[in-house]
Amino acid sequence: AAASGPAAPAILPPGVSAADFAGAIREFIAILGAENVLTDADHLAPYTKVMVAESEDLHRPAAVIMARTVEQVQKIMAVCNRVRVPIWPISTGRNFGYGSAAPQSAGQVILDLRHMNRILEVDPVLCTALVEPGVTYQQLKDYLVENNIPLWLSCPAPSAIAGPLGNTVDRGVGYTPYGEHFMMQCGMEVVLADGQVLRTGMGGVQNTNAWQVFKWGYGPYLDGIFTQSNYGVVTKMGMWLMPQPPVYKPFSIRYDKDEDIHDIVETLRPLRIAGVIPNAMVFANVMWEAAAIMPRSKYYQGTGTTPDHVLEEIKAKEGIGAWNVYAALYGTKEQVEVNWNIITGAIKASGKGRIITEEEAGETEPFKYRAKLMRGDMTLQEFGLYRWRGGGGSMWFAPVTVAKGSETKDQTELAKKILGEFGLDYVAEYIVGMRDMHHIIDVLFDRSNPEEMERAHACFAKLLSEFGKRGYAVYRVNTAFMDQTADLYGPVKRHVDQALKRALDPNGIIAPGKSGIRI
Ligand code: ADP
Repeated sequence: AAASGPAAPAILPPGVSAADFAGAIREFIAILGAENVLTDADHLAPYTKVMVAESEDLHRPAAVIMARTVEQVQKIMAVCNRVRVPIWPISTGRNFGYGSAAPQSAGQVILDLRHMNRILEVDPVLCTALVEPGVTYQQLKDYLVENNIPLWLSCPAPSAIAGPLGNTVDRGVGYTPYGEHFMMQCGMEVVLADGQVLRTGMGGVQNTNAWQVFKWGYGPYLDGIFTQSNYGVVTKMGMWLMPQPPVYKPFSIRYDKDEDIHDIVETLRPLRIAGVIPNAMVFANVMWEAAAIMPRSKYYQGTGTTPDHVLEEIKAKEGIGAWNVYAALYGTKEQVEVNWNIITGAIKASGKGRIITEEEAGETEPFKYRAKLMRGDMTLQEFGLYRWRGGGGSMWFAPVTVAKGSETKDQTELAKKILGEFGLDYVAEYIVGMRDMHHIIDVLFDRSNPEEMERAHACFAKLLSEFGKRGYAVYRVNTAFMDQTADLYGPVKRHVDQALKRALDPNGIIAPGKSGIRI
């Protein structure tokens, strides 16, 4: 590259000439400053690293640009519309196992909002916050602690480095009573493709002070269409925070047999729906538990699916159950005591499961990090999963299931069978929502082994189609499988998604291909 100008990109946006793109880059520099417009290979490398089972070339960005203000985002939209440059907005840009920071298709310009990272407001009375895209959970946690504000967050597992806005707009989940993050979101600011700035809910009312407390506003409720979509760039998000309870009591229940999953669901679902167990509890299988604390090579040096006898050995030697429940109680001493008695009574009556309290678990993992997650604390312990087989490949396969024992048995058996056919492992947990469960399976593979990468890709495609045939679809998916997933939700849904896209972004400049949506 000439010292005077930015490096020529290795790849151009589809249909845009080199000269036009160079012109767009010059305009981006004029808006953002040269240090916020990245085109050389070294700077793009971290944005190109994917965990999906596909070549990086399929997701290679043409450039990365970093905005710091809403006005800059508006000006970027004008350039993109004129030159037809597609932009892929990211906030904290982690999205592990769902596509990382890289765009759905090659040649998009990543709009990285990490520097728009102001905590605009925390109201300790109403327990609300208003944040920008780049705010991380760690940053928000530190702010609450430093300012002595007794409010708790709800975070996904890589809590410290991800952020509430990116996670919530992709409809991620956490593990506290506020674990269904989009349910606890309230009010958004969105820059539309035409440069207008929309405030949802109460946000459009002049001088309102209710933006972060009343979700619905008036007329059609719009926040939902800006999640898992490409209809706008979200530049502010309101959220509800949980008051820190006087007593917090995390606990685990260990079950020895694979088939116990049926009774676990039947025993605990009524307690969850009735609010006796208030949080998004999880049921983690033996491999998830093991992977969080050690590499597979500790017990098995072979390739392919981990044999059952090895899993039995791990269970016995590490004291891990076939299924491991993590849940928690929150409230006053009296409230917690009453609910604790109900739960222990139900477990006893079921005749299965061994309860482990925080006192019994002591400082041991994985209990310790689970206890952190259920109070919205920072942890990176679950990165262990990526060490299990090694090689950096991870794609979450996350079908939605109803919270009934019979369903879990079917889904678990089907997933195990398909993963086994491809020599991969069933590393799974169920996260219990209000009435649904997210059956989260980490399809782990070695990206440095082309043959295994191909196998993982074929395996994921088969998981989607075989589950699809039985009426099971995923709630979120990585960038390699967005179209196949959109198809499962039916042609009318696809049509409406596209009609909205054409109305709001007629040139298709925002994140083409996100959730299978294009003009
Ligand atoms: P996290 O770091 O918490 O995983 P990301 O920043 O990676 O979150 O965001 C996850 C996904 O959500 C992105 O890949 C993108 O599709 C979408 N997204 C993130 N931020 C925005 C935004 N500000 N506006 C619109 N979509 C966004």
